[in-house]
Amino acid sequence: MRIRLGDFRTDCSACDALCCTELTILNTNDLGQSKPAGKECPHLGANKRCTIYGERSLAGFSVCGQYDCLGAGPLTTQLFSGLKIDIENSALPQEKKSSLLNKWEAVRRKSFQDIQKTFAARQKRPAYCGQAKTLEQLIAESIEQFVYEVKSAGVKLNDAKSEFE
Ligand code: SF4
Ligand code: SF4
Repeated sequence: MRIRLGDFRTDCSACDALCCTELTILNTNDLGQSKPAGKECPHLGANKRCTIYGERSLAGFSVCGQYDCLGAGPLTTQLFSGLKIDIENSALPQEKKSSLLNKWEAVRRKSFQDIQKTFAARQKRPAYCGQAKTLEQLIAESIEQFVYEVKSAGVKLNDAKSEFE
């Protein structure tokens, strides 16, 4: 299935809370409580919603209220969620499955960060979209490479989405 980049907007209800997981969030009250990229924020609830939403500034997480992924979160969520389900449901040995799921996490993190940078560059400098397009192609290639690896491992893909338009 092809993905239309222009269709994506910031929509936390359609996102796997990627900013709360995949980004470094500095706590302005206490840097020791800052959250590193790749680690889920301790304030993220089981339903993937912030448990301190109204008090984020008081808790030192004022940066969360200023952040806008410009649609990178919902796009990355859509690109990767089906792939994870396919790996989890596969008949691969547990060890191989865990290794692919670890790699899935790393590829998703890198893709989210790259897509976010690309969207920000497009918004700031629309005339620069020649280069942004190239970046999108690079991101697509890296996801396609992982999709290829997953397929080669014997996972049947039902819902992988990796092509941009
Ligand atoms: S990554 Fe974007 S859409 Fe997802 S939770 Fe964060 S701000 Fe909302
Ligand atoms: S404080 Fe809330 S919005 Fe900020 S990263 Fe944590 S869970 Fe997400």
